[in-house]
Amino acid sequence: MQPDGTWWVNNAGAVAGDDGVLVIDACATAARTRRFLDAVDTATGGAPVRLAVNTHQHGDHTYGNSLLPSTTVIVGHSRMREGLQADPIIDGCPPLWNPVPDWGPVARRLPDISAGSALTLHAAGRRIELLHPRRPAHTTGDLIAWLPEERVLFSGDLVFAGFTPLVFMGSVDGAPAAVDWLESLQPDVVVPGHGPVLTGTGITRVLDEHRRYYRLILDTAGSVLPR
Ligand SMILES: [Zn+2]
Repeated sequence: MQPDGTWWVNNAGAVAGDDGVLVIDACATAARTRRFLDAVDTATGGAPVRLAVNTHQHGDHTYGNSLLPSTTVIVGHSRMREGLQADPIIDGCPPLWNPVPDWGPVARRLPDISAGSALTLHAAGRRIELLHPRRPAHTTGDLIAWLPEERVLFSGDLVFAGFTPLVFMGSVDGAPAAVDWLESLQPDVVVPGHGPVLTGTGITRVLDEHRRYYRLILDTAGSVLPR
């Protein structure tokens, strides 16, 4: 978890077992990704990172892909892969952010495996289901990593805990549908794309905040735009 979870400061995860480690997302910068990988290395006693999953195309979750070992196999949704391939920000950041983040030595590294609507990984002694919400939500190529036995959900940016959700590359209709879909899984733990890890009533509260925000946007847009 990376406080304070604002622009470019994401969460990344790891699932470790006897046969190695699967990581879920990288970080935006080389320095942050190195710190994440060092933490994984310490926590697992140096177990090899065999697999990585990108939850979506955004650079805060993917630019650090290039810091992963060359032997790590990266998985992402097919539209996530297309999105990172066409991402212009890694080549030169527009003046949207001041100061422009210092990425350090990162390079575009695309997934080796493109997933469709669902792909199940058997890694680290566990079952990890990669699932697409079946419509645009945060982006067009979102994937969650769901551990059904442990009831742990890595939601990527379908959940922003304590932050305004971002859907400008996805869908304001699809995002609340994705919230309902996440809730239907009945997770015990949610690792959001940004913000603190959620459990129990914290999950319900944050998902309801997302619903109310999307409803506000849809109602406001509906009142000022011709249908
Ligand atoms: Zn994102």
